[in-house]
Amino acid sequence: LLTSGCTTEKTIKVGIENNFRPFTFTEGGENKGFEVELWQAIAQKANIKYELVPMENGELSKSIKSGEVDLAISGMTITNARKNNLEYSNPYFQTGLVILTSSDNVVIKGKEDLAQKVVATQNGTTAYNYASEIQGVKIRSYPNISDAYDELKKKNVDAVIFDERNVNDFSQNTAEGKVKIVGELLSKESYVVVANKRNKYIGRVNQAIEAVSKDGTYEALYTKWFGA
Ligand code: GLN
Repeated sequence: LLTSGCTTEKTIKVGIENNFRPFTFTEGGENKGFEVELWQAIAQKANIKYELVPMENGELSKSIKSGEVDLAISGMTITNARKNNLEYSNPYFQTGLVILTSSDNVVIKGKEDLAQKVVATQNGTTAYNYASEIQGVKIRSYPNISDAYDELKKKNVDAVIFDERNVNDFSQNTAEGKVKIVGELLSKESYVVVANKRNKYIGRVNQAIEAVSKDGTYEALYTKWFGA
């Protein structure tokens, strides 16, 4: 058996978004979240030494492509466009996008009601792509999703479109009852670990994802962060 002292493998850099609750976020100088803990378990199984590098979402893909970080984990959705540049692990989380509006908004009940409305979201995300394809919608896009939520709280925009679990987290913990989720899930998205094409880790990461799913680690973390 190898102990960590015997391995000469380098410590790799793993990029995370600094504000994607409850998956990865930085609070009081500490990196926290479901994926921070999931990654810790994966890395342990795969015998990967790593350090986390928190950054804004917009910097993540660039940092992977440039090799500044070796991998990224941060609610990254599989898309065809990204497949050209990036390599993916197997998916470990199924989710989708939702619409968030003001609690007293009686007009917006779903995607059909967004024509001529102002929708806020985060730059460079699947939510941005989705919103841009809705007929007649006016998009305000921010580097940080907190700014989109703030604008909705102040009623400067009509709605936010973003990843369901992050929207839930905001609406339950920060929104002071000022917002509500409306309609169905708009899309089906799978979250994956992302790497550049030159990486040699994805195979081991996939084996470790399977291992943490089989031994109950994944389920325990899921329950801790999302409830039963
Ligand atoms: N799932 C979304 C995407 O991949 C948002 C990810 C994020 O903001 N960290 O674009």
